[in-house]
Amino acid sequence: MSGFVRNLLDRPGGVNLTPYKKIVHAAGDRAQKVGALDELPEPSMDDLAEFCAVAREAADRTLGLRPFDVQLLGALALLHGHVAEMATGEGKTLSGAIAAAGYALQGKRVHVISVNDYLAKRDAEWMGPFYEAMGVTVGWVGQNSTHEERRDAYTCDVTYGAVSEIGFDVLRDRLRTSADELIMPAPEVALVDEADSVLVDEARVPLVMAGAADPADAVPEMAALVRTLVRGYHYEIDEQARNVYLTPKGADSVENILGVELYDENEPGTLIELNLALHAHALLSRDVDYIVRDGKVQLINASRGRVAVLQRWPDGLQAAVEAKEALAPTEKGEILDSITVQGLIKRYPQACGMTGTAVAVSEQLGEFYGLKVAVIPPNQPCVREDEPDRIYPTVPDKDAALVEEIQEASATGRPILIGTLDVAESENLAKLLQRRGLDPVVLNAKNDAEEASIIARAGERGAITVSTQMAGRGTDIRLGDGVKELGGLYVIGSGRHASSRLDDQLRGRAGRQGDPGASVFFVSMKDELITQFVPDERPPGADADGLVRHRRGAYIVGHAQRVAEGVNLQIHRNTWRYTRLLEHQRELVLEWRDKVLHTSSAADALSAADPERWEALPADSREETARQIVLYHLDRCWTEHLAFLTDLREGIHLRALGRMSPVDEFQREAVAEYKGLLGEVERRSLESFEEPAAELKRPTATWTYMVQDNPFGTEWDRILKRVTSATRRG
Ligand code: ADP
Ligand code: MG
Repeated sequence: MSGFVRNLLDRPGGVNLTPYKKIVHAAGDRAQKVGALDELPEPSMDDLAEFCAVAREAADRTLGLRPFDVQLLGALALLHGHVAEMATGEGKTLSGAIAAAGYALQGKRVHVISVNDYLAKRDAEWMGPFYEAMGVTVGWVGQNSTHEERRDAYTCDVTYGAVSEIGFDVLRDRLRTSADELIMPAPEVALVDEADSVLVDEARVPLVMAGAADPADAVPEMAALVRTLVRGYHYEIDEQARNVYLTPKGADSVENILGVELYDENEPGTLIELNLALHAHALLSRDVDYIVRDGKVQLINASRGRVAVLQRWPDGLQAAVEAKEALAPTEKGEILDSITVQGLIKRYPQACGMTGTAVAVSEQLGEFYGLKVAVIPPNQPCVREDEPDRIYPTVPDKDAALVEEIQEASATGRPILIGTLDVAESENLAKLLQRRGLDPVVLNAKNDAEEASIIARAGERGAITVSTQMAGRGTDIRLGDGVKELGGLYVIGSGRHASSRLDDQLRGRAGRQGDPGASVFFVSMKDELITQFVPDERPPGADADGLVRHRRGAYIVGHAQRVAEGVNLQIHRNTWRYTRLLEHQRELVLEWRDKVLHTSSAADALSAADPERWEALPADSREETARQIVLYHLDRCWTEHLAFLTDLREGIHLRALGRMSPVDEFQREAVAEYKGLLGEVERRSLESFEEPAAELKRPTATWTYMVQDNPFGTEWDRILKRVTSATRRG
């Protein structure tokens, strides 16, 4: 990024650091006085300079880390509700802890949203002594935490946890039927680590809680049928490989084989099933999008490039992929409740975050969360050398040059970190390197702790580490002995990502705290980024040595990336238009549920509706009976409402073909349906109250998972196409 743009961001759009710099300066002046104290006072939050001076002294004494001025600057930006951009290795963990302590001393409860369980625990324990010195309690939650451990962790002033874990706890509380079983306190402050990943990349991911139901309908016939279809004849895949659709010829063939009419508005079931099967067949590839392990489909998380534990696709697609791989269908479950990551974060009245790459998403952070970016300067100037891309005509040309470069650089002992776009590519590259007698370490462990320890060693002499995007994030790479003299860590990207921000994250692994280092990306004119997003561009030829030097080459790469970024932003916007309404309805229902849980509102309503029946019930238990009846029907109706909305959304493009705005159509129907919801709860509750028939049976088993990108959306496709063609013209 040019200095000019940074300056601009420092002013209107970005956060002005001048007031924070003054505070940090004043804190410096007080260092001696505070340092002389035997016992540190609890600082007053009215005097931020004093707070900074005490926090610095406390961190020094308890952790042996004396916060740099820039770390205090970052902490102040966080404390004022901004997103602090601080490079990798600048010490965000400590900045975050100082800010969290500050919020806690203001009497606010803070949830520090970590990247994963391993980091939640590591950071909470690492920062523990500092918090203690500040008079602030701290805890953490992880996948394996028990109910009691969670309850304790959430009573602390500061609680660390992965976004999924905190989200699941919100959802689990959602089903509790007695006020004193609740563990999640009212949301106050969210402090988000790696904020761009969580707030932008994962924003659309729904966290889901499901309850036991029948296994999904297997659709082996459909899977077999689509296998016989031919691409280009029976079906087409769009440029971005996000959608697949039948051609008229394909539709005819399928209708003949199945003997049904596919486009019957009243019977959309077959078409949906067929689309799912086709999606599974044509758009999802084994070992790229998912792997099959122990007879189960395991998703590969696109942004993290590795197995996504506990993730699955929306049910229909999950079943379709299982059918494609001829696996037994897994339990389907009924969605009892769900919330997107964005919806989860937006529950907090106050949010802030930190990351190495925020400026590039400042528009989204502003638009979706009302957050501003504060660009914190590095402690030591960055001297990393970022080379221009090396561009080759084809993928094999690129791979050959890449292997050559790695072999050459590694011969000197210089450590190399290679970032690939997906797991399959990592493994492929590792094989090529092994054939050359090199010994690369591939990061695809499912275990975050193991990954962190591998990445921590990636800066040692002779190390060759192959890693996908997110792997091992949160751990900085220190240089081994003598590595500085070799030029520091050499970061090589095997292809540009769909966003320049992700490229920057990879580059940022080198050059921490003023270390020497270098980065370069190897690109081919046939990389997916280019063939998918700017398929019509005609690449220039290569020079005699195989490199494409014509500036059109670099232009095409940058252009493809901008198109991809635009498409992603449109998808994000559009999803949010759907989910915003749902999250809003969810909040309203929850408010009502809370009231039922904490007050006698259920008893009041039912006793007023049928006083005779009320009198007939035993006085000591009837209030609770009324509460349980209303809770049951409230939850039941919400689950049905969710299912209705899902169907509506999945079906709306089929029904709304040709109409202008499926989103408006969706909103209209969703609002209308919601209007009837509370009345329906009341009606059913009164019915159960008057005639207690079968017991109110709640799901016997519930489980939680994250859903990957919703693959449905012909309507997105329409928008995307427009964006793509508009950008292409421009
Ligand atoms: P980030 O999250 O910004 O990438 P971390 O919080 O993981 O960085 O810290 C990176 C490393 O810097 C850690 O090993 C930590 O011990 C070290 N560190 C942080 N603050 C300081 C400090 N003030 N002085 C010395 N080392 C520090
Ligand atoms: Mg970190």
